[in-house]
Amino acid sequence: MEECIFCKIAKGEIPCKKVYEDDKVLSFEDINPKAPVHVLVIPKKHIESLNDLSEEDSYIMGHMMLVIKEIAKKVNIHDSGYRVAINCGKDGGQEVPHLHLHILGGKSLNWPPG
Ligand code: 5GP
Ligand code: ZN
Repeated sequence: MEECIFCKIAKGEIPCKKVYEDDKVLSFEDINPKAPVHVLVIPKKHIESLNDLSEEDSYIMGHMMLVIKEIAKKVNIHDSGYRVAINCGKDGGQEVPHLHLHILGGKSLNWPPG
């Protein structure tokens, strides 16, 4: 996926404000934050959306879940709380076709999101 913006960020071809990285995932600040703290977590592997996951992606998705709490500590929202969201497709509001988690916090967030 040569044109994919998040693949380019994962490869270091587009800069980002990195929060966390390991061999499978990268986390960075959202360029247009929707909360005082808003970071994204992406698999380095290109997966378009939740609809495109296969059994072989189970490990990486589990890993993404496990690193959330470490990222939350790094951005100081571990104890105050936060929300994790994955948008999928048009009605889900997915704009970037590379699977990503949003971690939002730093204030009391509205629920339901509307
Ligand atoms: P989606 O709507 O696809 O769930 O979320 C995409 C998110 O990626 C948006 O919150 C948007 O602000 C963020 N985003 C889009 N392009 C870039 C970029 O080039 N760099 C960073 N850091 N965030 C981006
Ligand atoms: Zn990609």
